[in-house]
Amino acid sequence: MADNDTIYDLIVIGGGITGAGAARDAALRGLSCLLLEKGDFASGVSSKSTRLIHGGLRYLANFEMDLVAESLRERAILRSQAPYLIHPMPILIPIYKGDPHGRAVISLGVRLYDLLSHEKDIPHYFTSNREQTLGFEPRLNQENLAGSALFYDHQILMPERLVIENVISAREAGAKLLNYVKAEKIEDTNGGVVVTARDLLAGTRQVFRSKVLINAAGPWIDKVRQAGNIDHQKIIYPTKGIHLVLPKLSDQALFVTSRDERMFFIIPLGAYSLIGTTDTKYGGDLDDVHADSSDIEYLLAESKRILPGLNIAREAILYTYAGVRPLAFSGESESKISRKHRVIMEGRSHRIITIAGGKLTTYRNMAKDVVDSACRIIGEKARSVTDRKPLAGCLYMDYEVYLRDAVPELATRHKVSPDTVRYLVGFYGSRADRILALREADPVLAGTISSESRDVYAQVVYSVREEGARTLSDIILRRMHIGMTASRGRGQVEQIAGIAGRELGWNEDEKQHYVAEFKKELAKETACLNC
Ligand SMILES: Cc1cc2nc3c(=O)[nH]c(=O)nc-3n(C[C@H](O)[C@H](O)[C@H](O)COP(=O)(O)OP(=O)(O)OC[C@H]3O[C@@H](n4cnc5c(N)ncnc54)[C@H](O)[C@@H]3O)c2cc1C
Repeated sequence: MADNDTIYDLIVIGGGITGAGAARDAALRGLSCLLLEKGDFASGVSSKSTRLIHGGLRYLANFEMDLVAESLRERAILRSQAPYLIHPMPILIPIYKGDPHGRAVISLGVRLYDLLSHEKDIPHYFTSNREQTLGFEPRLNQENLAGSALFYDHQILMPERLVIENVISAREAGAKLLNYVKAEKIEDTNGGVVVTARDLLAGTRQVFRSKVLINAAGPWIDKVRQAGNIDHQKIIYPTKGIHLVLPKLSDQALFVTSRDERMFFIIPLGAYSLIGTTDTKYGGDLDDVHADSSDIEYLLAESKRILPGLNIAREAILYTYAGVRPLAFSGESESKISRKHRVIMEGRSHRIITIAGGKLTTYRNMAKDVVDSACRIIGEKARSVTDRKPLAGCLYMDYEVYLRDAVPELATRHKVSPDTVRYLVGFYGSRADRILALREADPVLAGTISSESRDVYAQVVYSVREEGARTLSDIILRRMHIGMTASRGRGQVEQIAGIAGRELGWNEDEKQHYVAEFKKELAKETACLNC
């Protein structure tokens, strides 16, 4: 097999944000790197988050100042690198009499958060009395309302695209990244690490070799350790979190306290609202994580209590999604377990390195730390450059300047409306240019896919040619906005399959197979609504 003779510096297992970030970091240092992902890139927990790039205000309650400081530093770096994906969002914390944290504590918390923030261009926090608070959201429950605090964090509409940006950037720096390839056996030999892997779409087996292995398998970390016979003590304490997506409830993002003293968000998500999350111990199948009825009832009841006038009905829920946090074991209660990351070195000469814990927000620093450890084993001196090296869609200028100067120029050059260019820039950054070129070359690809989204068929072709999409779910749910709409692309899946099938060489049976797989994946997210 072609790869049998290659000895990579690193093999990374896991193509979520952590693994993709590690592959990028390593490749940019000049290391040879292979990444194996058993599903699609970003198909694990990286696509199941609350979609915030945040410092984690609530970690201040656990006195985790260093985690908040790290997260706020990373928040600033990420926004400077991908301002088209990451946008500041004002979040209101309504404060009620009897809340576990009263006005004084919340005010102190947001003040401290503000002081730790590195981004001087976002507005400062402020507090409001009861009447002022109702100005932000008049439908808030008024009983015992004492006031509120408003602070800023950032929203990322599609974290999946941040993963893809890292995948593209890693590939351009020389890394090889394979999706749908599962690492099944790991051997730590005298000559290095040997990974036996299976291509789950082609059904073939391959053997890969490296000097060091990075286990970035998120919630599956312990399973990968088992595949390498490193199964002493478990590292992961799995907790499940679910989200509900509904038609827009409020334009104001809310961070509210539940009756059991947990905090959860009700935030605008484009034309919709996102409610979440929960935090419960999980012992089920990691490959089949879904919301169950009690999770849904809990979030619905708490949201109704906060916004009583809206009569939020279970029938209004468009879909749900759920994920398992890859938190490192610490023996505390679910919400108290630290989100700090840990690098654990195991095996012969510490050549098998696991990266656990952390958050989407801190992935870049996690990637740097784990690749630093790998470099120490290999004896490589190169340092991480990801704090200053632009991501794949980098604009090379301020976002606002790009919108003012580059967008009209691109619109004129590609003969499209500035709105269309701006929309594509919002997902692809400077790479929007490539989609515009595809769109211009073929009138069929210029067509808008659905009235619910401005996505065009050119994005389907682009996702296959340049972003490693191999199935319809990859294209619709993890590369394009249409997968986040109410219909989620159900009505257009046949047309999308026609275009994707031409790119991927599918025959009619294969096309129908992928259509059915896509529908099956969607059904999982709504099945629990009828139970
Ligand atoms: C409900 C919830 C809400 C959250 N909200 C936020 C938030 O708002 N902001 C934030 O910063 N963080 C948030 N997080 C945390 C964040 O989502 C995770 O920390 C982060 O996405 C973890 O990424 P990962 O790459 O480590 O894991 P994953 O994305 O799960 O990637 C691991 C990958 O490894 C692959 N894999 C597993 N086994 C193998 C194998 N044998 N061979 C090949 N590949 C394999 C899997 O398929 C998977 O794709 C949230 C988490 C949850 C659960």
